[in-house]
Parts: sequence; structure tokens; C-alpha cells
Amino acid sequence: MKRFFSFLPTAIILAVFCLFLASCGAPSVGDVGAIRQFFAMDTAMRLTVFGPQQEKAADAALAEVNRLEQLLSRTRPESQISLLNQRAGDPTPVGLDREVIALISASKGFSKETCGAFDITIAPVMDAWGFGQSGQEDAYRVPSNQKLESLLSLVDADKLTLTTEGGALAEVGMAVDLGAVAKGYAAGQLINLLKSFDVENALLELGGNITALGTHPDGAPWKIAVRDPQDESAYLCVLPLRDATASTSGGYERFFEAGGKTYHHIIDPATGRPADTGLLSVTVISPNAARDDALSTALFVLGPEKALDLWRRSEEKFELILVKTDDSVLITEGLEEGLAFKGEGYTYEIIRR
Ligand code: AMP
Ligand code: MG
Repeated sequence: MKRFFSFLPTAIILAVFCLFLASCGAPSVGDVGAIRQFFAMDTAMRLTVFGPQQEKAADAALAEVNRLEQLLSRTRPESQISLLNQRAGDPTPVGLDREVIALISASKGFSKETCGAFDITIAPVMDAWGFGQSGQEDAYRVPSNQKLESLLSLVDADKLTLTTEGGALAEVGMAVDLGAVAKGYAAGQLINLLKSFDVENALLELGGNITALGTHPDGAPWKIAVRDPQDESAYLCVLPLRDATASTSGGYERFFEAGGKTYHHIIDPATGRPADTGLLSVTVISPNAARDDALSTALFVLGPEKALDLWRRSEEKFELILVKTDDSVLITEGLEEGLAFKGEGYTYEIIRR
């Protein structure tokens, strides 16, 4: 069995550094900002922060990512999510912090919005494929149909109930995995934190989630590049991003090969198998980082038609880049302005409402 595990970020940041005006509080000439590069939440992260207290702000942001990982990771035995999972089947709610309850509540909402394609109770199925243990590549395996069938009854966000003070998982064996939404949630929290340090310009790369606060200090929007899902050294397009997040999900992020077939980590909760709907990657862009993260995972599961259907009817607007297995790319009209398409071997189409 061949195994692969990739931590490569899904987007490449193109920071265009120009001359800055040296004035009170503004970045000085040649200031590249406070940069922090580290590994957290199972992925490579990079924060670029500009402001009068940029070093302090960047340190606080890094500490906040670590705090959230400690709270939300299901592989850390003392995290609140681990405590919830350990007590699965016990009807007495496990006490949870308000922010954990709010995130789980939002996640249940994302499940409803995507007809169950997004489901944070997917954890038992992730474990059956060996995707549950972070970084342990030798755990990868293809579970039997019987095993998957028995586990699917444990995947149901409706059986995860919340009170004002805690939550409970209805059945023994159920477990929560926030891997598809935690980084987006963290990005939203970091933006609030950075603002409290008077930061007006920042770019946060949390794995596949890229969040722009304001513009680049030169006044132009941040420019980000979405990577080619078939070539980690190439990119598909460059986009302007301002006060928004671009969240990308793709099967290339984590996968293994067995018996000549490739199995990736985005699981369809209806089948318990890696989603196979003709997509290589999905990028969702909007001001709501947590929702973008959840949606990019869910729309990968739903496939291109249902993804565009949701794009058309959703009240809370978002934009999309859908890369299909036939090398065509669908880009929604809200991204047309400022877009530079670079994907070699791909064709693209702008989708209108
Ligand atoms: P992302 O990179 O945001 O697409 O998240 C992928 C991660 O989300 C996986 O590694 C799992 O931890 C988790 N996951 C996989 N499939 C689903 C799903 N259908 N709904 C919710 N979480 C999922
Ligand atoms: Mg996600």
C-alpha cells in the first residue's frame, strides 16, 4: 500500500510589496510586516500582520491559534471536543465553553444548509479509513462495506444535542471532528483579535483558508493564488481579496493509494466513502471564514451542480471556483473582476446567476 500525506498549503500567497508611506502608525518603507510561520491544527500556517503594534498583535494571534487548537482538537485528550467524545452515549450534557457551543451550533446549521453533506459527526468514519490520527500514515486502510454500513448510523448531526451549557452525543461510538470548520473559525477569531490591536492590514494563511483583513498596506487588495489541484508547484488563478476569506478543499490535501485506487479525506456522509462527484477542488470566497471552510468541504461532497444551485439560492452570498476532473473550471461571476486565470491545460467558464 502506497501512502501519501501532504501538508502543503492549498494556496500560494503572492504578497506584492511596494513602497510604503512613512507616516504615523503606517508601515515604514520596506516593512514586510510581522510574520509568523508555524504548524498548528494539522497544517502549515503563516500570518502577515501590519500595524502600529504588529509584533505584539502577531504574537497574540499565534497564541490564539494554539488556544483554539487546545480547545477544539479531537486528538488532544484534554480538549473539550475530546471530553464530549469520551462521554458519547451518556445523556447528561458535557459542560462546554460558550464559544464551543456556538461553533457546534453553527456547524449543525451548515449540515442543514447542505442537506447533510457537511457533518461534524463524521469522526467514526474518518477513523475507519485511518484519517482520524493526525500524521499517522500507517493507519490508512480501506474499511469493509459492512464496517462502513454499521458506522453510518453514528453519523448524524441531529444526534448531537446542545443545551445552553453543554452538549451530548446520543450514541456510544459517536464522535465529533471539527477538522472541516476549525481553521475557518480560527481565522474569524484572529481577525477580531487583530482589530483589537488596531491592525487594519493582515493576511492569514491557515492551511487552505486564506483570510485578508483590509488591503495590502499599499492600498491595493491582497492578491492570492489558488493552487492547481494537480500540480502543487503551479497555480490556477490569481485573485484580489479584501476583507474576505478564500477557503479551498481538495482531495489532494490528504490521501493514500491502495490496490491502484486513490482514497482521499473528504467523506460523503451518505456513503461513508471519499466523495466522488467530479471535482478536484472547491474554493469558497466570502466574508464569513467559518462558513467558507464548512462550505468548501460540503460542496466538494455535493458536486458541481448542487454547489452552483446553492450558490444561486443562498441568502448569504459567496463566490466559487470549482475545478472539475475533466480539467474545466467554473468561476462564479462575482470573481470576474481582477481575476487572472493561469491554469495550464484547463479551460474556464464564468458562471452567471
Ligand atoms: P477541509 O480541508 O476543510 O475540507 O476539511 C477536511 C477535513 O474535514 C477532513 O480531514 C475531516 O477531518 C473532515 N471531514 C471530512 N469529510 C467531512 C464531511 N463530509 N463533513 C464534515 N467534516 C468532514
Ligand atoms: Mg473545510
